[in-house]
Amino acid sequence: MSPLKDLFAEAGPISRSGPGYRFRSGQLTLAESILQTLSQKQTLLAEAGTGVGKTFAYLVPLMLTVGKSIVSTATRHLQDQLYERDLPRIKSALGVSIQTAVLKGRGNYLCLYRMERTKEQGRFQRPEDAHFFSEIVSFSGLTATGDISECSAVPEQSPLWAMATSTRENCLGQQCPRLSECFVMAARQRAAEADLLIVNHHLLCADMALRDEGFGEILPSVDHVVIDEAHVLPEIATEFFSQSVSTQALSGLARDSLAIGLEHARDAASWPSLCGELERSIMEMRAILAEDSHRDGPSKVNFPQGRISWDQLSASDTQRWISALGAVSKALSALREVHSMNADRHAELARLAAFSLELHQRLEAFQDNTSDEMDVRWMEFSRHGVTLRRTPFEIAARFQQEMARQPKSWVMLSATLAIAGRFDHFQRRLGLQDAATLIAESPFDFQQQGLLLVPQDLPDPKSPDHISQLLQQAGIAELLRAVRGGVFILCTSHRAVGLAAQWATNWAASHPERHILVQGQAPRPVLIEQFRSHGSALLIGSHSFWEGVDVPGDALSLVLIDKLPFAPPDDPVLRARSKWCEAQGADAFSAIQVPEAAILLKQGVGRLIRSESDRGVVVIGDRRLAETGYGRRMLRSLPNFSRTRNTQEALQWLAANGRDRPSAPATLNSPELES
Ligand code: SF4
Repeated sequence: MSPLKDLFAEAGPISRSGPGYRFRSGQLTLAESILQTLSQKQTLLAEAGTGVGKTFAYLVPLMLTVGKSIVSTATRHLQDQLYERDLPRIKSALGVSIQTAVLKGRGNYLCLYRMERTKEQGRFQRPEDAHFFSEIVSFSGLTATGDISECSAVPEQSPLWAMATSTRENCLGQQCPRLSECFVMAARQRAAEADLLIVNHHLLCADMALRDEGFGEILPSVDHVVIDEAHVLPEIATEFFSQSVSTQALSGLARDSLAIGLEHARDAASWPSLCGELERSIMEMRAILAEDSHRDGPSKVNFPQGRISWDQLSASDTQRWISALGAVSKALSALREVHSMNADRHAELARLAAFSLELHQRLEAFQDNTSDEMDVRWMEFSRHGVTLRRTPFEIAARFQQEMARQPKSWVMLSATLAIAGRFDHFQRRLGLQDAATLIAESPFDFQQQGLLLVPQDLPDPKSPDHISQLLQQAGIAELLRAVRGGVFILCTSHRAVGLAAQWATNWAASHPERHILVQGQAPRPVLIEQFRSHGSALLIGSHSFWEGVDVPGDALSLVLIDKLPFAPPDDPVLRARSKWCEAQGADAFSAIQVPEAAILLKQGVGRLIRSESDRGVVVIGDRRLAETGYGRRMLRSLPNFSRTRNTQEALQWLAANGRDRPSAPATLNSPELES
């Protein structure tokens, strides 16, 4: 018997190390492939269906292999779960004593220097902030790690954390008077010494893109990299290979320069006039948007959505932007010169000099219209200001270059990496055409455990009030009434969430048994916890609820998805990618839009069946899934549920599977979906 077979056996050491373990052949196959990949310094792409147990399938081989490793996960929450729950269990099951550590972005650790500065200034916007800030100060004396997630007395979203944590731009680094006690530096020290380090994709990509958040590079020092939830990696890597500069960052620089200049180099310049000039130029740039938002016309179609490509601007708008950016650049340049001449007078002035230089370089890069045709210049705006971005729309070559910088083994895995059994799309995006691939099938019996319903007579998916029409259909209303257990309504836009929430307000009056939860009412983890504990709630959410939500059992028995989750076609980066794809002779809709929507749909549908005993129905309110060629392609990527187009059959299925409430009607036949 191989060591892995022993370890994963029904009564083996992993089984004995905690409750709920079952032998799954897919888990063993995956672990064996990963062990081989690690020992031969290869690259493996693996899809592990729900319930395979992919976490143990990579942790065990990592523990058995010589060399330093990184595991990267999608979120900080998953990092904590791995570090606090899964790693200790596997370490004790295997009896190994390797050194492990978790490292998050610097914004997750208390900065003692900035906390003290804020305390000295003592200016808070809201009365309750003084109380919360005193909680942060008390926390600083108690915590060993400085990880702000341990401070339960202050909400994670509190704006106060920005005043007690650091950014790469405002950290004083080696010049800091609190360097020896610094939590960020201590976390990085532990990370450097660890045999197995848990990071998140943002940190990994920052390291890969050499967008160092201030710590030493982590990738060059390791032998093995395992990337879990790898389906989100292309998006995150694209973000980190981009350059951006925001009006918020520029205004922050102006404010800091005024305060720090007056404090440490009052005689160096007229700080109010220098900083005022920068603020004025930023206001002028924002004024263009204010004017545009009040003006109608074909060139303004994107403004209400907050994103526009530079090449979509009209000729006259382009001139206005060039002139506004020129003014910001000039004011920034003047300020930068004064910073640079006074950098040796105080550590804060030195870091402002570095920051203003960097912002100026990024602004120049945005203005440069001669560079690379493989990136797109675009602007994103919100009530907080404007962000200017330069984004590469093809990252495969760059990603490959970074991977090749040092030979190591790479394992990228997720529950949703393949489309209709093939990895081509993911491989093309990251240039991984030569990687080995594996699909570890889910141990669940989807055919028995779930039913997929695409009703007949659905509203037009392009209708602006599609979700309202869908929810008002008699068949859907009957399903929502009849199902025993909780319901997710997963929407493809915030607008649809709003419309569904309006519908729910009326609907709830006649269905008091349902507790209605809507995205935005409370932080996501709080909503999910309320949903779980109620057992019969109805939750309405958009993209953030399509992934990473695990509600096993009756608490989730029905998932309703409003439409196929295509990205908005006027998204600047998608437009540029599509244009480039078509220039290569391919069809952008088939090559980009369909596979990306298929992955997201698979994630949304994947919320339903989370354990061997789960039973439930997925409703997809978009007839294109059943009636178009690309829809049928997406259908082939989904779990192999039983399928129907008849709502009455779905009601009957609920009754037959003990997932109905009393008095649900039944019967009737219908044409089945392609299986
Ligand atoms: S080194 Fe940077 S993060 Fe650490 S205490 Fe100083 S300013 Fe804060």
